Amino acid sequence: MLAPSAYAAPAPVFPALSAPFLSSPSTEAGSMLDILRRIVQDINATRDLNEALNLIVAEVKAALHTDVCSVYITDPVRGEHVLMATDGLRPSAVGKVRLKLGQGLTGLAAGRVEPINVENAPAHPAFRYIAATGEAPFHGFIGVPILRRRKVLGVLVAQQREQRKYTADEESFLVTLATQLAACINQAEIRQALDRLDDDVLSGTLFLEGVASAHGLALGEAVVVFPAAALDRVPDKDIENPDAEASRFRQAVAAELAELQRLSERMRLLLSAGDRALFDAYALLLGSDSLVNGTLERIYAGNWAPGALRATVLEYANIFTEMDDPYLRERAADILDLGQRLLNRLQEEQSFNRHYPDETILMGDEISVSQLLDVPTEKLKGLVSVRGTGASHVALLARGLGIPAVFGVSNLPPGRLNGREVAVDGYTVRVCIQPSPALRQEYLKLIAEEAKLSRGLQHLRDLPAETPDGHRLELHANSGLFADIAAARNSGVHGVGLYRSELHFFLRDRFPGEEEQTTLYTRVLRIMDPHPVVLRTLDIGGDKPLPYFPIIEQNPFLGWRGIRISLDQPDLFKTQLRAMLRAGAAYPNLSILFPMISSVSELSEALELLRSAQAELQEEGVAVTTPKIGIMVEVPSAVFQIDALIQRVDFASIGSNDLTQYLLAVDRNNDRVAKLYDSLHPAVLKAIHHVIERVQAAGRPVSVCGEMAGDPAAALLLMAMGVDSLSMNLGGLLKIKWMIRSIPYVEAQALLTEVMTLNSTAAIRDRAHAFLDQHGLGGPLRIGK
Ligand code: PEP
Ligand code: MG
Repeated sequence: MLAPSAYAAPAPVFPALSAPFLSSPSTEAGSMLDILRRIVQDINATRDLNEALNLIVAEVKAALHTDVCSVYITDPVRGEHVLMATDGLRPSAVGKVRLKLGQGLTGLAAGRVEPINVENAPAHPAFRYIAATGEAPFHGFIGVPILRRRKVLGVLVAQQREQRKYTADEESFLVTLATQLAACINQAEIRQALDRLDDDVLSGTLFLEGVASAHGLALGEAVVVFPAAALDRVPDKDIENPDAEASRFRQAVAAELAELQRLSERMRLLLSAGDRALFDAYALLLGSDSLVNGTLERIYAGNWAPGALRATVLEYANIFTEMDDPYLRERAADILDLGQRLLNRLQEEQSFNRHYPDETILMGDEISVSQLLDVPTEKLKGLVSVRGTGASHVALLARGLGIPAVFGVSNLPPGRLNGREVAVDGYTVRVCIQPSPALRQEYLKLIAEEAKLSRGLQHLRDLPAETPDGHRLELHANSGLFADIAAARNSGVHGVGLYRSELHFFLRDRFPGEEEQTTLYTRVLRIMDPHPVVLRTLDIGGDKPLPYFPIIEQNPFLGWRGIRISLDQPDLFKTQLRAMLRAGAAYPNLSILFPMISSVSELSEALELLRSAQAELQEEGVAVTTPKIGIMVEVPSAVFQIDALIQRVDFASIGSNDLTQYLLAVDRNNDRVAKLYDSLHPAVLKAIHHVIERVQAAGRPVSVCGEMAGDPAAALLLMAMGVDSLSMNLGGLLKIKWMIRSIPYVEAQALLTEVMTLNSTAAIRDRAHAFLDQHGLGGPLRIGK
């Protein structure tokens, strides 16, 4: 049962009500809606679950003018629905009345997972009279299941003396309230479990489930990171050493002044003097006594720098907002902007100084690429995030670096986990908070076994990826960082099949120039020489906005991303192409790949810009060679135009991550639909099969460079389709090689023929896994969904 202390978070546990409901035109529904909104607000102010439930039953009873309102919570361990709060039944029944699952009308609502609304409950065959509740006089009954992610957490019940059904409006009111209640109950249970762990570390272990993962196991200490706060949301905080805090603030001011001067200089060629005046105005504001001294005064009064800054900036911004002169009024926005810049600096400096333990498990609501890269690689053991899915770019990076991770742990309370021991299990997609000593031993044992297995595969390093009956394919590495390119060089791969150039752009505070990029690409090509390296041109946008090139869009994955940005910003694109070509002049193992191609005209434009970059360089005396050019096939239109597209280039690389997202209409980053995201969907397999056939019919090679190349079940089917190469994260490469070397090609082809007749993703996955099992490749290879 839930303890009263089960939750104590001031944070709103109820999400905002949905817009369609809010805009309901009916006056009756309108007033219901006001009540609903008020109840939700009241509940957010309560301190624990029991208080919240008591409030709900009282308010619902009043709102519906009904005689009874009760909440039953489901205890799955004991298999019971427990009466947890009531207004109208006997209070003494609370905690005592326990219905077996499926028992009574309450059990019926839970079992059928739908509202049960009857006018005369005692006459219903499922009715069960419980004397302890004193419910004899009631006839009308409605029970609404409280659901979270398809699981029944409890039942919200109303009863009335009158023999009548509850109206449709009343029913919708209860259904809406029940959806809000679900989040509250789930959070309460987790908080209660954490409280128990705080009181007694041996009291049990808390497991939280995610929706996707990067495979592997890790045990370590949670380090929680938060996104940069907005200025007006910064809280006050007491400090002990005002001198240190003041010096921190002065350093931030000095750094910002220097940055403004630098910006103003850089903009000299781009902006008019009038436009550049903004930077001077900011510098003036920073030099002014009011903003800086006002903040320092507050720091010496005992507030930390971000809090002191917020108070001072808001005070000055308000003064300007009140002014009559429109020009001065607008300066309020400048003050706020400057305040935010200073705050960012203070926060940055805090994260630079963050202490990372040797076994760091990075945790957060949403972990950014730069937060991940901030942790020294040797210390980063695992990753857990509330949001995101296995196809998000942080997930790809985690896999690239071989870091086990769990994503989409929607009920993770990061605020309470810092410093706790945590196990990340990327195989079962679970996080274990404070494992018991026995469980801890178990994890350590599994981690050691995993390391042993990977050592055991090392002997495959220099052997070809060839099936027992002589079918060969090439295995390439996906890369994007120096850390993994050096590792790729030593891992026996045939080359780099996908170099995500944008990762370097993330690590900077501005677009890298031509020289800088040339050095970078030359280094990558040199490390891999003579093996081929496929450098992909910038693929930003979608879930990869650069910090210094923000793109705010409603629908970023359908918006300005990949080649679309490159074609609209030919200056940036040409710089990158020139840098790649210059690197290729020294090392001819270069191939260039265009991302997100969705039409022939787009490809023609990209090729035209490439040709003009080549011509320019030739004129400048650079001995450019002609690299191989490829397209990513990751947008459905490219699948259907593959014959026309492939005529214009040398190779194709199938980006199954995006192709899956666009074919299935499933956002690769949205944990709510992560279960629908699976590249073994029959439609995705058919599309890929078609592309492989058509590209090869045109005499060109084709590879798959999305995550499915590293998923044994999927790689098996891709091999059977005859793909020329697979490009994947190094972490899983030897396992895939092991699989290829164990399975005769003809058997894989027979399996493919069979699964291509199946209509369901689950059936395909089950069949492929059963096949791997039959070949003794279950266990360690049986990863994935
Ligand atoms: C893909 O879409 O499959 C791919 C490899 O590109 P990215 O994951 O970088 O979008
Ligand atoms: Mg892609």
